[in-house]
Amino acid sequence: MFRRQRHGGDTVGRAAVGEHGALRLDGVSRSYRRGVRALAPLDLTVERGRFLAVMGPSGSGKSTLLQCAAGLDRPSTGTVRIGGVDLGPLGEAALTRLRRERVGFVFQAHNLVPSLSVLENVALPLLLGGGHDEGRARRALAEVGLAGRAEDRTDELSGGQQQRVAVARALVTSPEVVFADEPTGALDPATARDVLALLRHAVDADGHTVLMVTHDPAAAAWADEALFLAGGSVVHHLHDPRADQVHDVMRSLGRFAA
Ligand code: ADP
Repeated sequence: MFRRQRHGGDTVGRAAVGEHGALRLDGVSRSYRRGVRALAPLDLTVERGRFLAVMGPSGSGKSTLLQCAAGLDRPSTGTVRIGGVDLGPLGEAALTRLRRERVGFVFQAHNLVPSLSVLENVALPLLLGGGHDEGRARRALAEVGLAGRAEDRTDELSGGQQQRVAVARALVTSPEVVFADEPTGALDPATARDVLALLRHAVDADGHTVLMVTHDPAAAAWADEALFLAGGSVVHHLHDPRADQVHDVMRSLGRFAA
């Protein structure tokens, strides 16, 4: 997915093929007031049907990248395209609609609505878009193995089951890109594997596209590609990353004690 190249003085990764991709960033940077540069100019294309892990030490710019790429924050420079749509010119209402209809989110905390049933939580993005489709929500729930829990309240489910509901909710609109921010950060290893297997299956079986921020080498090993940030720049990438390789890169970046 990436080849090394120079861009504005920073070495960055970039897709080797494809004109648009599900997600495309061109020269995207983000600076905060008082000169804090969270993200150096970055080019990145994630092709449809690919699973990208974004890693790096704390403060390396992972969240900033995810927020800009998902249309939750506006970059200081550059262009973000989701499914070929340039987010830059969009006003807040159009951006909100695009996020709802073309982007899926899975966060560390699943952000389910406790007053709604499991099925209603999955259907929520469809409802908000004015296109309630119970069959579609039930199918998404079945995909994550929870068809039998549709009528339950979310607090009757385990943490791992709740995160699977969050995955179903993220996939129900068939979004262009699913952004996952530490989706397994609050889960035990076995439950984390279930959630990662679901994301992997969504990519392999249904052609979904996933960008996942994680600090966990075992989680990154589920991805097709791992991208490493340090100081707001891409400093390394791995194809078909193995957990031990990811661990070694992270250690070299100072993430782990030796
Ligand atoms: P990560 O997700 O890898 O921990 P972040 O993207 O959260 O890193 O942060 C990257 C850099 O930007 C850090 O130096 C952080 O302190 C800074 N930063 C993030 N958000 C803000 C903000 N709202 N205002 C100022 N600086 C910020």
